[in-house]
Amino acid sequence: MLKTTGYAADSATSSLKPFEFERRDLRPHDVLIDILYCGICHSDLHMARNEWKNTVYPIVPGHEILGKVSKMGNEVTAFKEGDLVAVGCISDSCRTCPSCRDHLEQYCEKEFTLVFNARDRQTNAVNYGGFSNQIVIEDQFVLHVPKKFQKRDLPAVAPLLCAGITVYSPLKNWKVGKDSKVGIVGLGGLGHMAIQLAHAMGAHVVLFTTSLNKAEDAKKLGADEIVLSKDSEAMKKHNNSFDFILSTVAAPYDLNPFLDLLKLDATLCLVGLPASPHPALRADALIGKRRRLAGSLIGGIKETQELLDFCADMGILAQIEQIPPDRINEAFERMLKNDVKYRFVIDMAPLKKH
Ligand SMILES: [Zn+2]
Ligand SMILES: [Zn+2]
Repeated sequence: MLKTTGYAADSATSSLKPFEFERRDLRPHDVLIDILYCGICHSDLHMARNEWKNTVYPIVPGHEILGKVSKMGNEVTAFKEGDLVAVGCISDSCRTCPSCRDHLEQYCEKEFTLVFNARDRQTNAVNYGGFSNQIVIEDQFVLHVPKKFQKRDLPAVAPLLCAGITVYSPLKNWKVGKDSKVGIVGLGGLGHMAIQLAHAMGAHVVLFTTSLNKAEDAKKLGADEIVLSKDSEAMKKHNNSFDFILSTVAAPYDLNPFLDLLKLDATLCLVGLPASPHPALRADALIGKRRRLAGSLIGGIKETQELLDFCADMGILAQIEQIPPDRINEAFERMLKNDVKYRFVIDMAPLKKH
């Protein structure tokens, strides 16, 4: 077994502390990754605090992992020692169901294996995530970090693995392109990636926000217009005009005014997961223009690689605040107050073996 250091929570109310544990010995297709950086996502916080009632303690969160290959099992051919690689939410899946065969592992009919707080499909042991100095992942769930990214960019690549793919996948699925008028609801970790990606795809991008003090940032990220969603007159001016709206907000709110903004056959897609339901829908908001309300969950391995390549080509990175591991707890508290622009990324250098 491989001696590993990470940060773990022992209970829903305890803070994360240094934690020693073991990674599995390499199987023939395994890759051992020295973790350089790991982004912090809201799901890490929800899981550490057992807000989804399925946490097994101790828990080592972390699913926006960027690192370097340090060792491989003897059947690994796609990677070599020293390669820069990345791992996102998915560390395994059944590989045989229709979703897995279609490269949609996130919708695996036998549930994909999350990279932390999930059970190994072979040993049933609970796995530990990326808030640690190394991780073992099977080769087909490891992504190549494109060489076009500069070394100094690497911390800002990590959030692409969850925040980035969560918004990229629906933008691609609903075929956003240069003739699209796209709305992004909310400017946080997901929203700041969505604006950049939709802009890079050539769309006319409108940010919907509840506070106009984010307007300058949104314009720099590539938003063409900013609309205060509480201003019903400003909202109505856009009625029946959007090809696609992506909601990144993780709190319940009235979706009806946003449905009214869609054109015939257009879609409002949710990627934020609020703890309680959104208020009721008005059926006429859907029926009147054959509009659709949809949802989307992260993205598959193939599509995540496509996203990394797209971001490298287009020069897209997350905006981040880099912290050492001993500031994870402080980062969690600040995330709850939306006090981050726009993602915390942990630099794992202090956890390196001496
Ligand atoms: Zn996440
Ligand atoms: Zn499957």
